Amino acid sequence: MASFRLAAFQKLLERKPVEVKREADLTSDFYACNVFDRKKMKKYLSRDAYNAVIDAIDNGTTIDRKVADGIATGMKAWALENGATHYTHWFQPLTDGTAEKHDAFIDHSEMGGVVEAFSGKLLAQQEPDASSFPNGGLRQTFEARGYTAWDPSSPAFIIGTTLCIPTIFISYTGEALDYKAPLLKALNAVDKAAVGVCQYFDKNVTKVYANLGWEQEYFLVDEALYQARPDLSLTGRTLMGHSSSKDQQLSDHYFGSIPERVTNFMIDVENEAYKLGIPCKTRHNEVAPNQFELAPIYEECNLANDHNQLIMDVLNRVARHHGFRVLLHEKPFAGINGSGKHNNWSLSTNTGVVLYSPGKNPKSNMQFLTFVVNTIMAVYKHQDLLRASILTASNSHRLGGHEAPPAIVSAFLGTEVNKMLDLIEQNVSDKKMTPEEKTSLKLNIGRIPEILLDNTDRNRTSPFAFTGNRFEFRAVGSSANCASAMIALNTAVADQLTEFKTEVDALIDKGVKKDEAIFQVLKKYIGICKPIRFDGNGYSEEWVKEAEKRGLTNITCVPQSLQGYLSESSKALFSKVGIFDVKELEGRVEVEYEKYMKKIQIEARVLGDMSINHIVPTAVKYQSVLVENVKGLKEVFGDEYKTLAGNRLELIREISEHVTAIKNMVNEMVEARKVANQIEDTVELAFAYDKTVRPYIGKIRYHIDKLELIIDDELWPLPKYREMLFNR
Ligand code: ADP
Ligand code: MG
Repeated sequence: MASFRLAAFQKLLERKPVEVKREADLTSDFYACNVFDRKKMKKYLSRDAYNAVIDAIDNGTTIDRKVADGIATGMKAWALENGATHYTHWFQPLTDGTAEKHDAFIDHSEMGGVVEAFSGKLLAQQEPDASSFPNGGLRQTFEARGYTAWDPSSPAFIIGTTLCIPTIFISYTGEALDYKAPLLKALNAVDKAAVGVCQYFDKNVTKVYANLGWEQEYFLVDEALYQARPDLSLTGRTLMGHSSSKDQQLSDHYFGSIPERVTNFMIDVENEAYKLGIPCKTRHNEVAPNQFELAPIYEECNLANDHNQLIMDVLNRVARHHGFRVLLHEKPFAGINGSGKHNNWSLSTNTGVVLYSPGKNPKSNMQFLTFVVNTIMAVYKHQDLLRASILTASNSHRLGGHEAPPAIVSAFLGTEVNKMLDLIEQNVSDKKMTPEEKTSLKLNIGRIPEILLDNTDRNRTSPFAFTGNRFEFRAVGSSANCASAMIALNTAVADQLTEFKTEVDALIDKGVKKDEAIFQVLKKYIGICKPIRFDGNGYSEEWVKEAEKRGLTNITCVPQSLQGYLSESSKALFSKVGIFDVKELEGRVEVEYEKYMKKIQIEARVLGDMSINHIVPTAVKYQSVLVENVKGLKEVFGDEYKTLAGNRLELIREISEHVTAIKNMVNEMVEARKVANQIEDTVELAFAYDKTVRPYIGKIRYHIDKLELIIDDELWPLPKYREMLFNR
């Protein structure tokens, strides 16, 4: 075996499951021990300081500097007791992942030496010299610095010896440079708008929370094999590799028993997660070999999103201890399932009602229907925006595969909910309804089966599916920051709810009774958003045709999909709801275009290098062996050699053809990059890379994968699919 691949294999064979120790027998005994949560705040903060933080969390009030000093002192005391030596403002720039810059708690002491110091000022605000983060031209060089500001609604936590303080990241002129700042705004907007609508049904509702329950899918690959694959380490996915004769055909991995090495890894991940207050609930094998899933109990959206960012980090760190690498890429292996991150989303009230749970009486069911219809309406109106929020270079590989393809956005409601919408559509008249008509309609609505929760049919092909008490936005990618999807969804729903209230109020002002006004507007919406409702097979060819007839958009090109952010309707939406002004939006979208282009560029470079350095030399080496063999036959057998060497001659020719094709296409791909790189405009550049560079990646791969099939296994330099997918 080629030396690198062989060495990797030897390491793999020597591996033993790493033993894991849980912090305590009962999870509840150590849950959130590394989080500065309410319980610890109560212990370490003065009453005033504690009340100020709670008020900030619950009501969004600002904390004044003096109080912040008190909070910092308490937080520092807790952190030092728990072994922290450093602190950092932890934030989520527009790159993948999170960012942190650690500072020690030390300051000069008047007595000489140092003391542990941490003030309200340092807690509340910092200026990381973070000018290298992408900002889409939002920061001019003369004001290149951004600053981070504390988000008290997400608690501080300790990782290792560092106290991490969740923060937003904004430019000096106030534009958001991260995911958290706009997410908080969107959550605030949906709270306000939803409370307004809830008031029609229940005056006690004063606060509405958006909830998020993510399901994180990932692959595990042995560290040694990973290291022997430059494409995996540099791009997160395999750019070449023939499919394994056996992969997921038998579905024997799905929900199967989890191998010991992996179980130990998962226990360790959960252990770390529990310490950070992440309520991990479910673990199981996924469809593809070596693919797994982890899901916590849902939480308030901002916190849940921080926890998802954290868990990706935990997965990466813990995997290293166990000799694994975690692949969060949406499609690390061609030909088998990729990974998503379903975003289970709902709204719930301070009175404890989940607004997407059908109620027990006509009134609460009216509320339920109001929220369902408005949500579907928002999805209908902003389908292009929702797609733009989830479609990235890596997630685009899941398009058109059997994996909740987001190319066409549609919403699944299930038989029962559809029946209810039909009921409203057919029974609400545009004229004034008679009391009998109203009573009968309400009675019918009241009869909505309470068992709906267990009764909802599932549809795994829908990008946006109702699942009994929530919607599941299934199209989100496994490596994504959920905030991108959550900003779009919550903003769209906030705007829609506000519009709904305006329309209902206008009717009420005209003397229409409240109930009837609500019915009438809902009926109108049900008619308008009908095209987005689809309960059939979202993977079928018929749906593509049907969706076109319905006027739904179908976009698979990432740069084109990103335009969904810049349409007049998206610009108007974001500025109306107060999330981004046009300049801010354009800046962020520019970052997305830049990321797309750079990812393709990196893949193209890596593929070019590997083609020329790994594949072509290997092919030529094997070809020489064949040539020697043929020469030998000729020497021994004379003219008879042609018959004897028959298929080897073909093989020699075949290798030459693949090698020539690879070399030519690598050259053409380099030329295509050179031409594209002349373009200055970021958006145009991304389109050029998509059109002229990206296609080579698949075309070159085709020839490499053919070579893998015919070249001596002993010579092949890269771990193969069957090796990476079946060793754990
Ligand atoms: P499935 O694979 O059947 O979709 P999982 O148990 O893997 O289910 O994940 C479901 C996720 O949805 C969990 O995180 C769960 O806490 C979350 N969830 C359940 N109810 C709600 C709700 N009302 N709002 C948001 N998320 C929810
Ligand atoms: Mg799910």
